[in-house]
Amino acid sequence: MNWEKNVRRVVPYVPGEQPKAEKVIKLNTNENPYPPAPGVQAKMVAFADRFDELRLYPSPTVEDLVKELALYHKVPEEKVFVGVGSDDVLATAFLTFFNSDKAILFPDVTYSFYDVWAALYGIPFETKKLDGNYRIIPEDYMVENGGIVIANPNAPTGIALGRDVLERIIAANPDSVVIVDEAYVDFGGESCIPLTDKYENLLVVQTFSKSRSMAGLRVGVAIGSPKLIAYLNDVKFSINSYTINLPTLEYAVESLRDEAYFRKCVDRICATREWTKEQLTALGYEVLESKTNFLFAKPAAYTAEEVFEYLKTKHIYVRHFKGERVKDYLRISIGTAEEMQELIQTLKDWRK
Ligand code: PMP
Repeated sequence: MNWEKNVRRVVPYVPGEQPKAEKVIKLNTNENPYPPAPGVQAKMVAFADRFDELRLYPSPTVEDLVKELALYHKVPEEKVFVGVGSDDVLATAFLTFFNSDKAILFPDVTYSFYDVWAALYGIPFETKKLDGNYRIIPEDYMVENGGIVIANPNAPTGIALGRDVLERIIAANPDSVVIVDEAYVDFGGESCIPLTDKYENLLVVQTFSKSRSMAGLRVGVAIGSPKLIAYLNDVKFSINSYTINLPTLEYAVESLRDEAYFRKCVDRICATREWTKEQLTALGYEVLESKTNFLFAKPAAYTAEEVFEYLKTKHIYVRHFKGERVKDYLRISIGTAEEMQELIQTLKDWRK
């Protein structure tokens, strides 16, 4: 009766709700409101004729997608790694590169999965406080450490650092791996991919979930030196050889081939973000500058939790985190222009 003492106990990450009701406005998990590129759909429809192929395992090395990503980012194929969403890529990277007795460093306000992976893998970690404006203090990351992970743009704040600031941090840390999580970079951030030529210890992680509207298909990417990628593959192949399913591999390739559609969706979301920011500001909200597909906003007359609960009664889902440093804010994903108009109207209509 003592088996439970051998269980690895963890406090898991809590993802945003995925409500089942049909007519909801879902602004709580930073999904893209537009569908994936038309070529993805065409490929999906055509796949029905290849049903029989599902008997086979997919490619363990995902070479077609790696090749397409290498072309897209203008890097050699040896610098590309693919995983099941960037959560999988990040989890594998934590396991691979953070194997020191020294603490890894990340900001106190950031993606709340980092401390979960650290706890799961027994990696010591230390958080560094953002400044009063929710900005990273670069010097905090120029101390002894076992690794660094920085989301840029950061979540849930939406704030982006320039590549030059990241480079200062990377240059100061030749003895540890620096992971830059660029889940939201396509909405206005500056990618650190160009720095991967210069710094062998820099791993840049991106995703198809946000700017490419493919959260449901689960594709994430890492770009780094061939040495880093080889180490990452060793760990991946020690857990699960077949991570990306057969059709998804092809859908991801299609997405990369339609740059015009990609740009159109991203531009539309950025324009809607700026409109929403203006509207919220006019309602008295304090809104941080965002280079992502969400806004981090502090309500004026009511608490964030009250607004969160009220919006839910109106079938509008946003995200509220209860942590001390973030509890006064709501994280609001950017939906279609119509959805955001409805959000603003609903907030205007609220009389307590
Ligand atoms: N990094 C950050 C900063 C995120 O907000 C998210 C989305 N929750 C992810 C990574 C993971 O996204 P995905 O696994 O869908 O690529």
